[in-house]
Amino acid sequence: MKTYTTADANPAALRDKLTVIYGYGSQGRAHARNLRDSGFNVLVAARPDGASFKQAQEDGLAVDTPENAIPKADLIALLTPDMVQAELYEQIVAPLAKPGAALLFAHGFNVHFGAITPRQDLDVILVAPKGPGALVRSQYEEGRGVPSLFAIHQDATGKARELSLAYADGIGGTRGGVIETTFPEETETDLFGEQAVLCGGATELVVMGFETLVEAGYQPEIAYYEVLHELKLIVDLLNEGGLARMHQFISETAQYGDLTRGPRVVDEHARTQMRQVLKEIRDGTFAREWIAEHKAGRANYQALKQKDLDHPIEEVGRRLRASMSWLKDSASAKKAAA
Ligand code: NDP
Ligand code: MG
Ligand code: MG
Repeated sequence: MKTYTTADANPAALRDKLTVIYGYGSQGRAHARNLRDSGFNVLVAARPDGASFKQAQEDGLAVDTPENAIPKADLIALLTPDMVQAELYEQIVAPLAKPGAALLFAHGFNVHFGAITPRQDLDVILVAPKGPGALVRSQYEEGRGVPSLFAIHQDATGKARELSLAYADGIGGTRGGVIETTFPEETETDLFGEQAVLCGGATELVVMGFETLVEAGYQPEIAYYEVLHELKLIVDLLNEGGLARMHQFISETAQYGDLTRGPRVVDEHARTQMRQVLKEIRDGTFAREWIAEHKAGRANYQALKQKDLDHPIEEVGRRLRASMSWLKDSASAKKAAA
């Protein structure tokens, strides 16, 4: 596996062209500002009545409507939420993009599952930072970069690879290291990671742990500290140095409990479910279900989300976090950097 760094990128391949950032949210805002600060020529495309239009202006970026911006673009980064990309592609990008322009995604969902079939003349590439937008921005400002992936779906001009690496360089990705992947691999592993482990798995584990302690009569505040608050300390150790670093810092008692009890909680039943979740990603079941949910007005999605937000762990957490001053500090620091 090759890791691409700043030395592998030729920013000139993109710097003097026009990069249009379509979607100025978590990723778009970070990409646009990093590219601008790297000396690239950036134009934000935003609907005039949305909050992003004003935000991009306040951030000192050039902004225009999608109808005006897209026809001028040499590279279009489509960074709106995944579920609206297909209609924006059909209505605005496909009819208005210049022949031979490049279309860039930060997640392969729509291309991989066939919701978008890009025009044959377009380069179709992916640059996906492995972190949220606020981190992509704050790392860049500190002279570092979030490790990123790139992939090529369609190389119409022969320049797709050079453009991908130039873009990854402009957002700071090459400082953290860039690895080549494919649209199927990025899409399927990203979905699996967030469903089974990072978002779905981790939160279910936390909530079930909380419920188990509270049901047994322990104080909810104590339960919150033990199963949610302290998770960050363990995740930070894993992030810094893997399992070895965690074992180095936790007590022997914690290690013995981990090694003997962990596999009983996350057991072979969990593995079977993980394989099933992965199968539903790979065969398109998840994509079809989520697209249908979006098209039907998202009632189920909203109800499930509300159920999460109404869980007792949220009320306890809000109270306890109010007295943890450093959380406010770090949240405001992130906001300033975001
Ligand atoms: P956001 O949800 O933050 O995007 C919001 C932006 O999209 C806003 O600028 C909003 O404009 C615009 N938008 C929303 N709906 C429409 C619409 N109908 N028409 C025009 N503009 C619209 O997106 P993310 O940054 O979370 O995700 C963007 C892409 O990046 C996705 O493909 C995602 O999978 C990928 N990704 C995201 C990561 C993350 O950390 N969030 C990590 C890696 C990849 P307005 O203000 O006008 O509403
Ligand atoms: Mg994702
Ligand atoms: Mg959950």
